[in-house]
Amino acid sequence: MANAAVGIFGGAFAPFHNGHLRLALEAMERLDLAQVRLIPTAHPMHRPDSQISPQKRLDWVRLAIAKEKGLVADDREIRREGPSFTIDTLVELKKWRPRTPLVLLLGADAFAHFHTWHMWEQILEIAHLAVVSRPGSSLLPPVEADILRGRHTDTAEAFRTVPAGLWMELPLPLMEISSTRIRRLLKQGASVRGLLPDAILDALTPKDIELLTHEDAPGKH
Ligand code: ATP
Ligand code: MG
Repeated sequence: MANAAVGIFGGAFAPFHNGHLRLALEAMERLDLAQVRLIPTAHPMHRPDSQISPQKRLDWVRLAIAKEKGLVADDREIRREGPSFTIDTLVELKKWRPRTPLVLLLGADAFAHFHTWHMWEQILEIAHLAVVSRPGSSLLPPVEADILRGRHTDTAEAFRTVPAGLWMELPLPLMEISSTRIRRLLKQGASVRGLLPDAILDALTPKDIELLTHEDAPGKH
């Protein structure tokens, strides 16, 4: 597909869950993306580093998408030194495929503070944004990101014909799943099956579970 866009989906993924998986798959289908690159973050700005190693979180992504054509685990942020800035990731990807439109996939909670991201205006010079509904968060852009007014589109087509800088909502059925909820249930000794792929759940070691239950830093969803 000429000029098919590529989706970029980053997160702590501590752990990766079915909300993440559905978001990536539905975005790929609805926006006709050539692929979605799933990028675990190593040293994010907006929350403390995960207790779980980046490699382990990447392995979970790999287990989740083993059979999914089009979903790609991308280790670039865990290989990079220093803070994990999305702008750096996008610049790298743009060098890799200069003519391919890039679409940054975000949950509505992340979109709500997009204007606090490092070099967010430059992000809009390189990528489009697609925002997925999330319980408790509005799909409206943050008022501080005033340049997003007038940059709205409702067609995925526009993501292919304009190089960057547009945003659209991608309303999905609300998914009441978060990594925080999974960690909380694990702490209670309750079942989490169905909330994350079986392949991840079945691979969790007692040590993984211990680390997940101690991951209680602020700033989580
Ligand atoms: P935590 O509870 O640790 O914050 P999380 O479930 O919010 O975990 P993250 O790794 O923080 O997952 O999120 C990565 C991205 O996935 C963010 O853009 C977030 O908005 C989005 N996301 C996560 N879960 C959902 C969901 N259930 N519905 C829509 N978007 C989601
Ligand atoms: Mg979160």
